[in-house]
Amino acid sequence: MRLSRYFLPVLKETPAEAQIVSHRLMLRAGMIKQASAGIYSWLPLGYKVLKNIETIVHEEQVRAGHIPMLMPTLQSADLWRESGRYDAYGPEMLRITDRHERDMLYGPTNEEMITDIFRSHVSSYKDLPLTLYHIQWKFRDERRPRFGVMRGREFLMKDGYNFDLTKDDALHAYNRHLVSYLRTYERMGLQAIPMRADSGPIGGDDTHEFLVLAETGESEVFYDSEITDLKFGDRQIDYDDVAQCQSVLEEFTSRYARTDETHDAALFDAIPEDRRRSARGIEVGQIFYFGTKYSDAMGAKVVDHDGNRVPVHMGSHGIGVSRLVGAIIEASHDDKGIIWPEGVTPFHAGIVNLKQGDADADAACQALYDSLMTLGLEPLYDDRDERAGAKFATMDLIGLPWRITVGPRGLKNGVVELTSRRTGESEEMPPEQAVTRLA
Ligand code: ATP
Ligand code: MG
Ligand code: MG
Ligand code: MG
Repeated sequence: MRLSRYFLPVLKETPAEAQIVSHRLMLRAGMIKQASAGIYSWLPLGYKVLKNIETIVHEEQVRAGHIPMLMPTLQSADLWRESGRYDAYGPEMLRITDRHERDMLYGPTNEEMITDIFRSHVSSYKDLPLTLYHIQWKFRDERRPRFGVMRGREFLMKDGYNFDLTKDDALHAYNRHLVSYLRTYERMGLQAIPMRADSGPIGGDDTHEFLVLAETGESEVFYDSEITDLKFGDRQIDYDDVAQCQSVLEEFTSRYARTDETHDAALFDAIPEDRRRSARGIEVGQIFYFGTKYSDAMGAKVVDHDGNRVPVHMGSHGIGVSRLVGAIIEASHDDKGIIWPEGVTPFHAGIVNLKQGDADADAACQALYDSLMTLGLEPLYDDRDERAGAKFATMDLIGLPWRITVGPRGLKNGVVELTSRRTGESEEMPPEQAVTRLA
């Protein structure tokens, strides 16, 4: 993409309404524009990051054997009356009446709808196990929408639902989700720690939240510092392997890590003092096993091996796709702007032309651009007629991991400059070598 033809409405001033750094940087970098309280338009740069995150989530879900689909945003109130949650959910639910006076709602989550789909089409244990998921906009009329996309009212969520014959099978689905989430967040350059949590309005006993440590996080967390040394890395997982998933879960959940809702001071105090940490965290996902809560209420039953009709065991599993954009920035920025992890960056590299209109510089930039595109690496080429300082400031603000700086003086010596956004280190090298380094 050439910057002169792109739509990147960068703000010079720091917006006064934004209280936390990710919100400020998303506004300044032209990623989002508020449409109304807690509701945002995703401008081109923000939309690219959102899509990259969504793609990672999809890839890791499919890798774990989960099946993508899409349910609507608007739901009928009738299903929620069946489960008993229509009244229980309270004012966070946006209720809508259509022209025929039918009660509708903008879905805050989809347990009821997926259970209805399941019971309409599945009636035998032979069709289990089954895990379906979608990535769809949700609406929750939050009391205090704030921090930009972190606590929106409209937000993008991946929500998945497992259906199993037995509790053991459903617990394997739970473990499988935990493992696949570890991998998902690491691909985004994040450390998200699974912590024992409280199940809230979803119900159920087993639940973990995934938290990214950040001072601006809304959750209070307590953990054993040893947990932050754990890395998922590139280990190979067979998601059908019950013992392997169980052992990864044990590895990542055996140390103390809890949110304030389930915090146990006595257990915490048993950890050696130098390892005890209390901090703030951002909830970027949560997994639940809730047994037959919805299948009982809504009659989602299958015939088991003995011919009996039994309710299925279920769980639900969410990832805050749009919140992650903010969470990644909270975890990765400096005073100049965002520092995108390679896995989610909107463009792989920026090309800065120090002398637009200089025949050699223009040609060298174009050649770099073409070589990177050929490799499947999309660059953002700053071809505007601007001062070098302004071009650098824009690149630093929008946080692309690499910048290639091209100017007539360097080209006389056959070199361009490659700069890492994270370390700030620059190196001169021939253009071809810069391309190879990024490949
Ligand atoms: P929170 O405690 O922050 O209100 P939650 O526990 O109500 O979140 P879940 O029902 O667990 O949310 O939804 C799954 C994920 O969706 C959360 O882990 C979070 O990442 C994301 N999410 C929830 N509410 C919002 C929101 N208002 N704006 C953006 N993302 C959200
Ligand atoms: Mg909530
Ligand atoms: Mg929560
Ligand atoms: Mg939650």
